[in-house]
Amino acid sequence: MLRTDDGPTIKLEDYRPTDFVLHSVAMTVRLFEGRAEIDTQLELERREGVAGDARLVLDGDELTLSGLALNGTAVPAETYTASPERLEIASLPATGRFTLDIATRIVPEENTKLMGLYRSNGVWCTQCEAEGFRRITYFLDRPDVLAPYRVRIEADRATAPILLSNGNPAEHGDLPDGRHFAVWDDPFNKPSYLFALVAGDLDSIHEEFETASGKPVTLGIYTEKGRVGQAGYAMDALKRSMWWDERRFGREYDLDVFNIVAIPDFNMGAMENKGLNVFNHKYVLLDPDTATDADYAGVETVIAHEYFHNWTGNRITCRDWFQLCLKEGLTVYRDQEFSADERSAAVQRINSVRRLKAHQFPEDQGPLQHPVRPREYREINNFYTATVYDKGAELVRMIATILGRDGFRKGMDLYFERHDGDAATIEDFIACFEDASGADLSQFALWYSQAGTPSLAVSESWDEASGTLTVGLKQALELGASGTDGDPFHIPVRFGLVGSNGQDKVVTVRHGAEVTGDVIHLTGEEETVIFENVGERPYLSVLRDFSAPVTLHHEQSLSDRLALARLDPNLFNRWRILNDLVAEALVAASRDPQRTAEPPLPAQIVEAILGSAGDDTIEAAYRAQALALPSEQEIARMLAENVDPDAIHAAVDAARRLIGERGRALFERIRAEARPAAEFSPDADSAGRRALANVALGYLAAASGDPAPAEAQYRAARNMTDRLAALAVLVHRFPGTGAATAALADFYARSEDDGLVVDKWFALQATVPDPAALDIVAGLLNHPKFTLRNPNRVRALVGTFAGANQRAFHRADGAGYRWVAERIVELDKLNPQVAARIATTFRSWRSFEAERRRAAQEALEKLSAIPGLSNDTRDIVGRSLR
Ligand SMILES: [Zn+2]
Repeated sequence: MLRTDDGPTIKLEDYRPTDFVLHSVAMTVRLFEGRAEIDTQLELERREGVAGDARLVLDGDELTLSGLALNGTAVPAETYTASPERLEIASLPATGRFTLDIATRIVPEENTKLMGLYRSNGVWCTQCEAEGFRRITYFLDRPDVLAPYRVRIEADRATAPILLSNGNPAEHGDLPDGRHFAVWDDPFNKPSYLFALVAGDLDSIHEEFETASGKPVTLGIYTEKGRVGQAGYAMDALKRSMWWDERRFGREYDLDVFNIVAIPDFNMGAMENKGLNVFNHKYVLLDPDTATDADYAGVETVIAHEYFHNWTGNRITCRDWFQLCLKEGLTVYRDQEFSADERSAAVQRINSVRRLKAHQFPEDQGPLQHPVRPREYREINNFYTATVYDKGAELVRMIATILGRDGFRKGMDLYFERHDGDAATIEDFIACFEDASGADLSQFALWYSQAGTPSLAVSESWDEASGTLTVGLKQALELGASGTDGDPFHIPVRFGLVGSNGQDKVVTVRHGAEVTGDVIHLTGEEETVIFENVGERPYLSVLRDFSAPVTLHHEQSLSDRLALARLDPNLFNRWRILNDLVAEALVAASRDPQRTAEPPLPAQIVEAILGSAGDDTIEAAYRAQALALPSEQEIARMLAENVDPDAIHAAVDAARRLIGERGRALFERIRAEARPAAEFSPDADSAGRRALANVALGYLAAASGDPAPAEAQYRAARNMTDRLAALAVLVHRFPGTGAATAALADFYARSEDDGLVVDKWFALQATVPDPAALDIVAGLLNHPKFTLRNPNRVRALVGTFAGANQRAFHRADGAGYRWVAERIVELDKLNPQVAARIATTFRSWRSFEAERRRAAQEALEKLSAIPGLSNDTRDIVGRSLR
């Protein structure tokens, strides 16, 4: 049975401003063992035009009211009602400002949801986005209610020598009984979701940064005791981010201090609270012995992302949660651009597109589909999705592609100028680009409201006599779960006509569709572009840099595609074209597993892969990407129906062995040339060389069936990247062997005190590509280091198993589904947000073959019938079954 009657649906069309305007917030937070006392003073005023008898309704969540005063006088009991979820007050002044003093009492130690004020390893900290502030005090807890805050924190000095909140430090001093206080002033208007408070015994590092206009800023990073030595790279990334935002977007930092606190128990990656970012410590703490190159890149990205929010999110925030992509899509775009400038643009773009296809495309093609700006929700926590973040970033990227770099910058400048201090909407954002450039983006805006991944079909015909190339483009959007009409999008298609010398030809365009520079603007359902005076027949390269989030079907000969994979001056497209060829071959092989006589990949494609991988003129990171096969999940998504994960695994594995055999000499050369430098450096070049050598190790092991080289690398490794890569080869390719077991035991023994490394140990075992991995993860549940209370640990074991182990999670007997559903039920009682996130791994269940489909449906239906399931989890399960 499916319950659909509880939890109200919030709708975009119902938006209206609050009846009362908030002018300021003053809080005193007294922290004690086992309790926190919060006194909040709000300065309010009835909004003009609002009826004099309208009541003030404040949000709460599991709160207890312990005091209420109006202008300093206790409010009589008959004029208000208080429940854990709501405080409603009548008889408030019809005009003029008044103050409301609200006292609440909470127990941070019992807060396992990790929303609001909680304790992590003894440290008090907060997470308020989206609706956590209402777990601290009764409030108009919505993003369009902005005010300056003054916060006083009191705590025992020995337990919490460090007391932090938003803004600038104002005062601090001693109190009786070994207690002390600190006062923080945040002069910038902010919504409650950006409130933050941290108190505890923490280590820290500090550095000075001078902004472009000469303003000094003190930067601080706080960590658990004894770990601040691992925060140096994060500090460096922060300074580079601040410098970059000044140069690229003209944005300077505004407060006197910028603090980051790293916390072990955190529901998400990090949080951009004004002047006091709180981070999952996974995105701060690093050293070569405990972190991989991917971890370094991840820290750099997340530090930049949260810092960039200071302008896109904080100075300009969202009017309501439907506009979440306004801050997230835009800020992901900004962090992607930062990484492209700091590292290799082509490799960064490949990574972003892989991520988009791995997470957003399946979401867009399944029951959890929703527009980048949703129209309704039952639980906002469930809309922090790949669609809002990653597709949201693609939409901003398309605006930049349509307007060009200068036009885009002018629009951004106008946005900052016009909306600084505001809570804005997508319409406000788009209007800035229209007003700054004169362009009409009304059709483009459809990308925000219409869900689904459109397909783009490209055909070409060549007329030798006249030297004319005719290109046909056609878009289609199948009706999705949302039932929206498929109106045509404005699709910017970046292109080039590549000559046999590997250079783009300069050609004359006879307009069909509009063409500006190297972009075709497809606005109708079907359009044609004619290129004249082309000379010799060119190779048509389309959708360069993945200029739109579409599924491309380009009718192009194998020889043209192979030529482009070798010649295209657009490195991203070289990769994309080769990757598409490989994926199509693996889809065909997976569909027909009996076809054993044929190799899983045609010889020409194998040669093309090895050609790219062996090209010393190209950076190593790119060559490693050329060798990385599409994931098994990606093949499943492309199959779309009757998916058999065992057949996919067999096809991918056969391809891996084939490439390993054909490329043996090359892989041995790559490994021989990759002698590790004496000193570890996390820079992009060094990381790329390690990536290439480690991909080569994997192929050699696949081809030879010999664990010895991986064993040797594991023993000799002097950094986590090389050690973990060798361990992954041993554990995934030779599971259960003495070599794998010994290395796993060694890995655990050398790092059992470092939670982040232990997470890697759990995750590696959760991803053994075999149905029997279920027994491994089931056994690990009883491991002394496993706990449901730490989100990172849960994600490492349960999340990774369900999200990245296609063969074992989607076992034909349904045991994988049942096991994960049981974990969701247990976790839901403690932390509904993390439970709901894990439940999304069921989203593609309908695409599997009948036996698995039945088993998944049964597990989901059983889950939905559990009494007392949280709103978060019931929303995901309900939509998945819809
Ligand atoms: Zn963000």
